Amino acid sequence: LTPVLNSKLPQTAAAAAPSFNGCRFSEADCLALNSLTLDGHLSFRHTSLGAEDFGRMISHPPAAILYPRSVADIAAVVRVVHGSKSSITVAAKGPGHSVNGQGQAPNGIVIEMAALKGIRVNALDNYVDATGGELWVNVLEASLEEGLSPRSFTDYLYLSIGGTLSNGGISGQSFRHGPQISNVLQLEVVTGTGQIKVCSARRNSDLYFAVLGGLGQFGIITKARIILQPAPQKVRWIRALYSDFEAFTRDQLFLISQRSNQSSSASFDYVEGFVVHNSLHSQLEWKSALFQSESIVNTSLIPPYSASPVLYYIELTKNYDVTESKESVDEKVMDLLAPLSYISSFLYSTDVTYYDFLDRVHKTEMALKARGEWDVPHPWINVMIPQSKIVEFDNYVFRQLLRTGITGPVLCYPHNKEKWDSRTSAVVPEEEVFYVVALLQSALPDSGPSLMTLMKRNEMILDYCETLGCKQYLPRYTELSDWERHFGDGWTKFLTNKIRFDPQGILAPGQNIFPRGG
Ligand code: FAD
Repeated sequence: LTPVLNSKLPQTAAAAAPSFNGCRFSEADCLALNSLTLDGHLSFRHTSLGAEDFGRMISHPPAAILYPRSVADIAAVVRVVHGSKSSITVAAKGPGHSVNGQGQAPNGIVIEMAALKGIRVNALDNYVDATGGELWVNVLEASLEEGLSPRSFTDYLYLSIGGTLSNGGISGQSFRHGPQISNVLQLEVVTGTGQIKVCSARRNSDLYFAVLGGLGQFGIITKARIILQPAPQKVRWIRALYSDFEAFTRDQLFLISQRSNQSSSASFDYVEGFVVHNSLHSQLEWKSALFQSESIVNTSLIPPYSASPVLYYIELTKNYDVTESKESVDEKVMDLLAPLSYISSFLYSTDVTYYDFLDRVHKTEMALKARGEWDVPHPWINVMIPQSKIVEFDNYVFRQLLRTGITGPVLCYPHNKEKWDSRTSAVVPEEEVFYVVALLQSALPDSGPSLMTLMKRNEMILDYCETLGCKQYLPRYTELSDWERHFGDGWTKFLTNKIRFDPQGILAPGQNIFPRGG
């Protein structure tokens, strides 16, 4: 298998077969696929459904969609594709929240992982088994019924287990528990040769670590065993404002260093950070940023734009149970906030249920959908920046390039590298602490910069990031040399794993790393 990119052109299907249910693969492939006895079904119609993703920038329809009802269905189809003489590829697809077509299989087969359902909570041993297409929100709900919860989340819960475990899965809990890939006990995987394998750190460990953070390259995650812990009932949700970036990052670093005692009240349970443009002069925007539904924010206390074109806030939570008195929660939180140097007149908090906090982005989704601003192009970029370079990044990117604002949230928060298992395929920067900066922008049809303008600015930022030793999270590259640089010392292992677990290069073609090598 030679790693050559197939990035620019979608692969073409082999000459159309006479008529096999609408199948457009070669006659031999159509015969093989149509003769499978499946629990679910393969559809050769309405395949544009397999070309949709959140990014709305890339759309290459597959020639077929598999709706599996069993792991055997997935393995059977993968075996046919593996044995095919033509260039068919296969992509497992969750709800399609990629932004650059990563879950697509141009003229190949998309596996609609949501069709294979199943969640089983083991309350005795504190874990949950969930199929790869299940959404985190469903896993959370099933776990909460037993008073339990996963430890590490993403900000948005309508993502699939297989999709986030193929990347990392990060949020404000990662500083303590690591990304979601650090919280998995066992996987069931269909490899690129169609074998069904159960793997863990002890059993088939090469496959297990390759698949975690492996961008879908080594196998299809059909089931994952995820660690659970007792769930709290309530959350004190806090935002603290800063105009000084150094104070903001100093406090964040202090907060993520308070991680050693996992069960104690000695630290916050979630730590993130946001960058906001200092033009939020409307009461409405401040109210939503700082939870002020009722009272009026005194905007005269906000530092002027001339002092700082951007402002920052740290977002924190402290978990508690309903039995705990308000005074006790207040006291704990004030103790934890005492060492921080936010602008004291801009500290806001609210109390919500644990579930409502974790499901917070869904509410934004509903609001954006109602305004027609959800189903728009999303030229998002996510970069991991070494801690020593974050001030430099702030000066150039936040305070210069983005000084006129951005149409979407900007996240900026630190991670402890020691919480990332270096045996997985995930790539992080060299330093012990790195920042994740997410520019989650939308290209709105009637206002703001055009998609082209945003994409050009993204390229500038990504080029600049390369000079700082950053790594892309949810990476997007079109040249092999870029992938090699991205993986650095890990490239040889990545390539070796590919040859071992997906020798024909059939899996996750939308990542644009390897071509179909059949
Ligand atoms: P898809 O987009 O369907 O797939 C992504 C990749 O994984 C593809 O290459 C696909 O082939 C592969 N894949 C999918 N399922 C499987 C499987 N079962 N086995 C093997 N490979 C598979 N990420 C974070 O880490 N933290 C966040 O807080 C966060 N918030 C987000 C909020 C929103 C609104 C959106 C749109 C995305 C967010 N993401 C976040 C990014 C998200 O983790 C990625 O988009 C990820 O790919 C999961 O999306 P998905 O489940 O829809 O997978």
